[in-house]
Amino acid sequence: MRFKSLHLIVVLLLLLTQNSIAKEYKWSNKLTFLGFLKKYHIPKKIYYNMDREDRELIQEIHAGQSYSILRKKGRIDTINIPISDELMLQIKKNKKEWRAKYVPIPYKLIEKTISIRLKSNDFKKDLYKATKTWYYGKELEEVYSKTIPFKKMKKGDRVIIFYTQKYRHKKAYSSPRIDACMIEINKKPFYGFRMENDKYYDSLGKQYKRAYIYTSKFIRPIPNLKRISSYFTQRRYHPILHRYRAHLGIDYAARYGSRIVASSKGEVIFRGWRGGYGRVVKIRHKNNIVTIYAHMSRFAKGINVGTHVSQGQTIGYVGSSGRSTGPHCHFGLYKNGRAVNPGIYVHKKVKKIIKLKGNEYKKLRKLVVHYRPQFKEVKNRKNSIVKEQSSRCLNCFKKLPKRD
Ligand SMILES: [Zn+2]
Repeated sequence: MRFKSLHLIVVLLLLLTQNSIAKEYKWSNKLTFLGFLKKYHIPKKIYYNMDREDRELIQEIHAGQSYSILRKKGRIDTINIPISDELMLQIKKNKKEWRAKYVPIPYKLIEKTISIRLKSNDFKKDLYKATKTWYYGKELEEVYSKTIPFKKMKKGDRVIIFYTQKYRHKKAYSSPRIDACMIEINKKPFYGFRMENDKYYDSLGKQYKRAYIYTSKFIRPIPNLKRISSYFTQRRYHPILHRYRAHLGIDYAARYGSRIVASSKGEVIFRGWRGGYGRVVKIRHKNNIVTIYAHMSRFAKGINVGTHVSQGQTIGYVGSSGRSTGPHCHFGLYKNGRAVNPGIYVHKKVKKIIKLKGNEYKKLRKLVVHYRPQFKEVKNRKNSIVKEQSSRCLNCFKKLPKRD
């Protein structure tokens, strides 16, 4: 009797799971988006009906990334393909019609804390020992770059980091984002606060210029710039089109045929046609960074896969290939395979110190006041804190985080 009821439960469970199953897959090498549609018998028109910007985003899908398929009664119901940290392309069958649109990736945003007292003179090593990752040390080194004397750090100095981590299906995803930090050098504290533009400032509004200590900086890819026609955004909602969009790079508008130069030294890893991006050159740099230059009218002579280029070397010419509106260069910067805002690496050639003023300064002071008691509380604790979760989830009752 007992066996029978157990049997029944198993059958019921099987039926239930057969009814609707979500499975994760990896995007295979060389699979194009059109090839993908063909594979799952989805009409190609969902791609051809997309507008210019939506089509450009399709190019963000890359080999090795994951996507999921939800099947109901053995048939495909929904396909979710992430195209950035914030957005995914959702392909869904409504009755008989296939639809594709970009929707926000639902996630939980959790605040976390790290606080350590150095046991050596090397803060990166000590952070690694505490957290088992080099990520935080490298990030801090980048955030403060050459503006603070890291080498003078001594045993007993402290490092405090307040960061947010995204969680999806109970697993951490995407890189943690440092929101506020403090590094002590010989007992002198250096505070850093992240503003909405992804840049970090001290408590009086002076900007820390993000740079790599061991590699050359990045420069603007267009020497003869007209203007910036579009900025970087992980996700924005278009109030008229009622749609979500992302723009994972900066668009530099320039005259047709203007030079496009390598933003930093590196090796060409792609030169060819990429759908909505048109003629594209991709360059790999140190620190696992890749830059892309899109919509070129033509490539410069001698630029091939494997070519080593120096900073400022001409790699191609501005155009509007791949369905772009006017002539411009779409410039993207990827760190560890993730699109990041190129604006935080590409600095204008101004030597003076950038300081926040007016409203921006007020916003920064609000952050400073918000974090002040938190820094105090953490400083008062004797023991080190490793990835301690705060009791607050920043977006648990809402679909989207309120922070940005
Ligand atoms: Zn663009």
